[in-house]
Amino acid sequence: MPANRFAGVCVDLHADLPPQEAATLAADADRFLAALSSRLGARPPSPTVYVFDSDWDLWLYLRRHCPEFSCRAGACFQAGDGRLIVAVRSVDDGRPAPARLRHELTHAVIGSNFAEPMPWLDEGLAQVFESGCPPICDQSRMAALRALPQLDRRVARLAGVSRNEDLDDNDHVVAWGLAWFLLDGAAQGRAGIAACLEPPAIGEGASERFSRCLGASPAEMGRRLADFVATAR
Ligand SMILES: [Zn+2]
Repeated sequence: MPANRFAGVCVDLHADLPPQEAATLAADADRFLAALSSRLGARPPSPTVYVFDSDWDLWLYLRRHCPEFSCRAGACFQAGDGRLIVAVRSVDDGRPAPARLRHELTHAVIGSNFAEPMPWLDEGLAQVFESGCPPICDQSRMAALRALPQLDRRVARLAGVSRNEDLDDNDHVVAWGLAWFLLDGAAQGRAGIAACLEPPAIGEGASERFSRCLGASPAEMGRRLADFVATAR
């Protein structure tokens, strides 16, 4: 376990980093939580954040405390004692950890404020806000999205994915694209996000909920997303 603790305003950071680096990371995380929470109309959570130096240490920790996420590069979950935990590696696939940390902190904001977020939106927003808040467009994800055929069918599939289902690589790209489209390109997109974060109506199916919140069926949103992607820079 990381031995050094740095208490921020919201985050309680545990990381074996030089003090200055840890203080900067904690301050960045606090700023990010405040900015994102305000943007989503949410209250900033106060997560305990563990930054692990090695894949092995992260794996051991997750296997013990959150086995269903043990193969991931980062995780956000509620511990048995009620604490909201964020656990990440200090380096993620050669990229610096702040992006992964922002990803998991986004899940922390959504998970601690909204009871039943749509799974694609939870993951899509986490990917979008990896770049910071306000976010910038991830050109490699945009290129991957542009290369995917049949976005209408893919969005229709994604809209029906349930909470415990794992998303595949293409699902991740489409989830990012939909979230980015709603933030950046779609008319009423931000109001749509706010509606999608509210709980479903009683007895409402996933596709029905999607259509009600966004004012278009999943397939129609897929066609709009394809148009957006074709013209987006
Ligand atoms: Zn995620």
